[in-house]
Amino acid sequence: MRLYVVCVAWLAVAGVLPAQDPVVVLLQFDEKPSLSVVNALHEELESLFEGAGIRLDLRHIEKRPLRRKHERAAVIHFSKGCAPPIVIRRHEAEVRTLAHVHQAGKRVLDLVEVNCRNVSEYISTAITTSDLGRLEMLYGRALARVVSHELLHWMLNESKHTRSRLFCPHVQARDLIAEGVTLEHGEIARLRRFATESAVAGGL
Ligand SMILES: [Zn+2]
Repeated sequence: MRLYVVCVAWLAVAGVLPAQDPVVVLLQFDEKPSLSVVNALHEELESLFEGAGIRLDLRHIEKRPLRRKHERAAVIHFSKGCAPPIVIRRHEAEVRTLAHVHQAGKRVLDLVEVNCRNVSEYISTAITTSDLGRLEMLYGRALARVVSHELLHWMLNESKHTRSRLFCPHVQARDLIAEGVTLEHGEIARLRRFATESAVAGGL
């Protein structure tokens, strides 16, 4: 075991092992949310992928960028008003599409669309009066979890869902805002392969 550790350390120093470059995530808002929402979104998104050894480089953009060939990047487009819920609702009246990722045949593309208003209205069924003082944080967290679901589709090139809390077909509203919801072991293992393969392929 010790020999292995020493060898890995030496290889890393010598530059033989590939560096784990961050995955670039370009955030494009039609209507920019408050700083508190943005901060919560960043914090939650980074923390969800950290466990899988994936560093995210979150950048805000105004327009769709031209893709740089050497960079592995996804664009997240947030449409509709990005504001936290203003009322608590008891029931969800309809099935809402919170977000989707574009596909070309079997290939999952690096372009995600998030409907901000639908996310806001959806979590309004899960908030309680004790949440009223922290709605911006909860909304930012919910947006991050919606984005993480779509990023999983892209990173794993997988259109099928699992039964996990964040990668099931219909994520529960309470799972978008509750404390301590993380990616599951199986997802983390698959994401680690994505990170390694991307690095070996010559940079993200
Ligand atoms: Zn999905």
